[in-house]
Amino acid sequence: MESNISNYENLIQEKIMEKGSEGISQQELMKAVGISTRELSIIVKRLIGKKAIIKKTVKENGKSIVKLYAITNSEKQKIYVNMGSIEEIPCFYCKLLSKCNNGAHVNPSSCSKLSEWVLSIV
Ligand code: SF4
Repeated sequence: MESNISNYENLIQEKIMEKGSEGISQQELMKAVGISTRELSIIVKRLIGKKAIIKKTVKENGKSIVKLYAITNSEKQKIYVNMGSIEEIPCFYCKLLSKCNNGAHVNPSSCSKLSEWVLSIV
């Protein structure tokens, strides 16, 4: 059964991707691929675990339906960083940055500028 599931995993992911923003229900997917409910459930769980797909409940013709959607690469790569907090780190403006290293004469453990900055944010 394991090899069967592995063989179908890519096919199912492709079918979900083909549907794009329309999405596809598990029932439609079962008919399209021709596998059992149990096998499909295992594959869907795996794909959700890999963050390749998501499940969403949507309303269609007044009914709530659970559909599967592919997660695109652009959605996976959205990372929000508050640059304001990074700009305040004294190391970014330090003339000794290239010489600073753990175990070196100039190091973060004994740096008063870094210590003062850390204490200012706690
Ligand atoms: S730890 Fe101190 S000495 Fe080292 S780069 Fe940062 S500010 Fe400069």
